[in-house]
Amino acid sequence: NTKAPRLPSYLKTTIPKGQSFSSIKKDLRGLGLHTVCEEARCPNIGDCWGGSADASPEENKRKATATIMLMGDTCTRGCRFCSVKTSRAPPPLDPHEPENTAEAVSRWGLGYIVLTSVDRDDLVDGGAAHFASTIRKIKQKAPNILVEALTGDFQGSRAEVELVAKSGLDVYAHNIETVEALTPFVRDRRAKFRQSLKVLEWAKEAGVKVTKTSIMLGVGETEEQLLDALKELRKSNVDVVTFGQYMRPTKKHMKVDRYVEPAEFEKWKQVAEDMGFLYVASGPLVRSSYKAGEFYIENILR
Ligand code: SF4
Ligand code: SF4
Repeated sequence: NTKAPRLPSYLKTTIPKGQSFSSIKKDLRGLGLHTVCEEARCPNIGDCWGGSADASPEENKRKATATIMLMGDTCTRGCRFCSVKTSRAPPPLDPHEPENTAEAVSRWGLGYIVLTSVDRDDLVDGGAAHFASTIRKIKQKAPNILVEALTGDFQGSRAEVELVAKSGLDVYAHNIETVEALTPFVRDRRAKFRQSLKVLEWAKEAGVKVTKTSIMLGVGETEEQLLDALKELRKSNVDVVTFGQYMRPTKKHMKVDRYVEPAEFEKWKQVAEDMGFLYVASGPLVRSSYKAGEFYIENILR
C-alpha cells in the first residue's frame, strides 16, 4: 500500500494568540535573531512562547523557550526527513555571530534558549569553537539564562563534543532521531546510531548536568527496536528523551509510515520514565525543545 496515511485532526494546530506570545514576537524584531520557532513555523510556538494568562509578563518570559539557529541556513548533510537547504560548501561563518547572538539573547531575556545549527562538515572543527564561544558569551552577559546546545555529531570527534560540553551550557542535546535499524534510511549516511550514542556519552563524561535526545515516531520503527534504542540511551546515561510524530515536510522527503495515536505516545512516556529517564516529553506535536524552559527550570536545573 503506497497511499500515505491521512493526517489526524490532533495534528492540526491553531494560530497562537495571547499577550505573552505577541510581546515575545515583538521583542524579536530588531534583535536580529533567527529562531527556528518562527522560521520552521513550529506548531508549538503558542506553547513555548505563550505563557499562561494568570502569570505576570516577567514570569511568562522566564518560562519561555526559543530555539536559535547558528552557522547559517545551509547544511552539508541531507537527512531524508529534514527540509533544511543542503550544499557541500555553505557560506563561511560570520565571525560576529557569537557576540551578536549573545547580545541579542541577553537583551531578549527569555529564561531558556536552545542553540542549534546546521551540520558543517566543511569546517575543520565542525563549528565547535563557534558554538562554544556563543555559549560562553551568553553566560558572561546573562548568567541566569539557561542554555541548551543541540548539536550535530561532529563526525564522532570527542575533542569537539568536549569543547561545546565545557563551554558553560546547562543541557547538551543531540538527536538520535530514530532506531538503529532505520538510521541509514532516515539520516544522512555520515550519521551513525552508535556514534550519536558516543556523543551523548562524552558530553555527560565532560560534566554536563543534563543530556537529552529526541526520537521521531511513525517512520517505520517497531516496538522492540524502540525499546532497544531506549535501553542503549540509558546505558549512555542520557537523562531526557522526547518523542514526537514525524511529519513529512514536502513530497520529496521520506513518507510517514503511520500516525501514532496520542495514547501510544502516553505509553512510551510511561515506559521511558519507568526506565529511569529524568524527564520525558511525548506527544504527536512534541519537538526536541518543546516547552523546555518550563520543565527544566522547575524540575531539574534550578
Ligand atoms: Fe521553538 Fe522548539 Fe518550541 Fe518549536 S518546540 S516553538 S522550535 S522552542
Ligand atoms: Fe537537517 Fe540536521 Fe540532517 Fe542537516 S544534519 S539535514 S540540519 S537534520
